[in-house]
Amino acid sequence: MADKTLAFDTLKVRAGYDSAEHNHAVAVPIYQTASYDLGSVERGEKLFGMTEPGFLYTRIGNPTVAVLEQRLAALDKASGAVAVASGMAAVTYALLNLAEGGGRILTTPRLYGGTFDALNHLYPKFGVHVDFVEDSDDPEAYRRAITPDTKAILIESISNPNSTVLDIESIARAAHDNGIPLVIDNTFATPYLFDSFAHGADIVIYSATKAIGGHGTTLGGLILENGKFDWAGGKFPHFEEPAYLLRDQETGRERSILEVFPESPFTARVRLNYLAYFGASLSPFDAFLLIQGIETLSERVAKQVATTRTIVDYLQKHERVSWVSHPFAEGNAYRELADKYFPKGAGAIFTFGFQGSEDQLKAFLDSVKLFSYHANVGDARSLIINSPKTTHSELNPQEQALAGIAPETIRLSIGLEDAGDLIADLEQAFAKAFVASLV
Ligand code: PLP
Repeated sequence: MADKTLAFDTLKVRAGYDSAEHNHAVAVPIYQTASYDLGSVERGEKLFGMTEPGFLYTRIGNPTVAVLEQRLAALDKASGAVAVASGMAAVTYALLNLAEGGGRILTTPRLYGGTFDALNHLYPKFGVHVDFVEDSDDPEAYRRAITPDTKAILIESISNPNSTVLDIESIARAAHDNGIPLVIDNTFATPYLFDSFAHGADIVIYSATKAIGGHGTTLGGLILENGKFDWAGGKFPHFEEPAYLLRDQETGRERSILEVFPESPFTARVRLNYLAYFGASLSPFDAFLLIQGIETLSERVAKQVATTRTIVDYLQKHERVSWVSHPFAEGNAYRELADKYFPKGAGAIFTFGFQGSEDQLKAFLDSVKLFSYHANVGDARSLIINSPKTTHSELNPQEQALAGIAPETIRLSIGLEDAGDLIADLEQAFAKAFVASLV
């Protein structure tokens, strides 16, 4: 892992890569190979026996993917990381690694629509059930909702789509007092805006498809841990089970994941079970593209946050806007928590309420020229979308109400264009929507 004395901006272009180990290539090479020559029978046995580090097969590890894992681990000060093929693979593998064999995940309805729907409808078919707290803003509500079967609390550091902020440290305390980990989906914030482990996370997940990649080209996901959670003690017996795969090569004694990987048992277990056997591996080329994205993470996100402030100011004064949901907005209920947890700003994705008829809303969306109309946030290009009918359309009207998604909700993700051009685009779209309605 990287030199801990280096600053974030140095780590984001350097961590996890030593050119001397790669023919002195300055940029991280793409190891486009499915497999690796074992060299000799003796070395092959050592690799398969895990007594010598090295690569066997790209489904479970690849040198380019490993640079991505180590780079993000350095940025998040994690003890272990595993990259997977998408953010949903990261969410699923992390939650199944906690609750496999049956258990409950405690969460809030303020989640990405795909995560909400998977937890609600798909996971129960695998014996994993969900409890949604009724009042997401009350940390005590999480404490009260924990049952003996609860295996983890899951939250998003900045929620999709309304950018609400929870009392993260209090929720972490509720989890830890009950011997369960806090899982934080840090996709909207990225490690640049939010230090998840410093505020109580035990497991961090990302859709790297968003601001980490940052250019809308690549799907990817990551799971990280800080190695501090105590998995022993009965609630997570699968971390203590001896396995033939993990046997001591000299004595043959079967060992547990906790014995073999004491610093990173969670991500090691994801790799050896879920990545190995469910197989949603990240390709080396996609890892390369995500590494390229990380190299400009701070610069991109800082500009996007600054432009967000300008656009929030513009929208909250607009007569056709009924509300703006971002901690930068005046009177926003989450300002204090956002200042505490996100001193550099609570991200560049937010929602506003369109004040007009459904037809006017449609005309507005059809009239924007610069904003792209699509679902992938965190892109260099700004996006606009009507969340209730798209990113959160899996949720029925009651579920949308629970998640705080009003029918008039429009979500923006601010990119790298000029702020003035973006405002001019919104302004001309408002004008068209309301002129059209007079016809
Ligand atoms: N988590 C959050 C907060 C998201 O917004 C998304 C996708 O929008 C995901 C996870 C899933 O990521 P992916 O699309 O990379 O599978």
